[in-house]
Amino acid sequence: AHPVFSELPETVFETMSRLARQYGAINLGQGFPDGQGPDDVRAAAARALEQVSNQYPPMMGLPSLRTAIAAHYRHHQGLDLDPEREVMVTSGATEALAGALMALVRPGDEVVLFEPMYDAYLPLVRRAGGVPRFVTLRPPHFRIEETALAEVFSERTRIVLLNNPLNPSATVFAREDLALLSHFCRRFDAVAICDEVWEHVVFDGRPHVPLLGLPGMRERTVKIGSAGKIFSLTGWKVGFVMACEPLMRILSRAHQFLTFTTPPNLQEAVAYGLSKDDAYFTGMRAELGRSRDRLAAGLSGLGFTVMPSAGTYFLTVDIAGFGLDDTAFCERIVRERGVAAIPVSAFYERGDVTNLVRFCFAKTDATLDAAVARLGDVF
Ligand code: PMP
Ligand code: GLN
Repeated sequence: AHPVFSELPETVFETMSRLARQYGAINLGQGFPDGQGPDDVRAAAARALEQVSNQYPPMMGLPSLRTAIAAHYRHHQGLDLDPEREVMVTSGATEALAGALMALVRPGDEVVLFEPMYDAYLPLVRRAGGVPRFVTLRPPHFRIEETALAEVFSERTRIVLLNNPLNPSATVFAREDLALLSHFCRRFDAVAICDEVWEHVVFDGRPHVPLLGLPGMRERTVKIGSAGKIFSLTGWKVGFVMACEPLMRILSRAHQFLTFTTPPNLQEAVAYGLSKDDAYFTGMRAELGRSRDRLAAGLSGLGFTVMPSAGTYFLTVDIAGFGLDDTAFCERIVRERGVAAIPVSAFYERGDVTNLVRFCFAKTDATLDAAVARLGDVF
């Protein structure tokens, strides 16, 4: 029931990126932009490398960054966070997730997970001794239904782990779905860990609704963010965690023995970046939205059924008509046509969804057009 890590398969992102390298494929699998991120944010990191101490920063993060995080979320999401007590810097959202699960799950606690789920979640929950209880979200709407929550929540529920916006289905949960979930968290006294790394990557004027901001959730939500997504710099691995002081005290105990801290020049640069004006954020969304539309048009032109994408770097297509399951389909296109994608079944533990394939559109027009052209030769 608690598999050791030696029994785990390799993550689908590494597998597909390795195949992409092997076959010289255009990699629309693993989610990363092919640009360099904002010049001024990278310049801030370069400057800080020379000018700021390169020794251990404070365990909770540089004060300048924690202050910038609190100000950022006040401005963009109306949250009221105390930078000294309720904000912590981590080495990526991945550390924040691992730390939160190690810190908050006691062996035997039940953890509610929504599938499709990001591939790190289940191994971490199990390694922490948690007992997963799955809610299966289904295409095309991926809605959270009350009956499904009623089946999995009980007095044994300790943690709920939600990703919003949701990778890989590119769903942005409606306020009603979040309110429903918050009702169950309060009723069963559960803590919500909300992975909101995609919070700024939402399209068509949608707002991002932070779960922590919902009534009654302030004291029971751990909010996780990532500079990698906000600045299209996925290699930076600068994450943030926000939670009320009693939860933060526990979370910091995990962080102190996981990484303790995060490179100081990157922290300074992220502090600078978070303070950028609204034009950066709306511009980033608009540009990614255009890329989404471009890839969607290209793929529908080839006869794919393209599912809606409300947020994230991704869109999914329904390949039911092609006579292959998603894994076979992805293996075939990477080998035969030189385009890498991700089979969405990798994000399901229990569900039987094998007809969706995820493509990353955070790429230049030339890359997207070339990928569509390559696929067009086969179908
Ligand atoms: N959670 C989700 C849902 C993600 O999609 C990702 C990365 N794409 C992460 C966490 C990891 O973020 P980081 O690179 O900051 O560790
Ligand atoms: N989060 C990225 C994605 O969904 C991949 C991150 C990773 O490779 N671990 O594609």
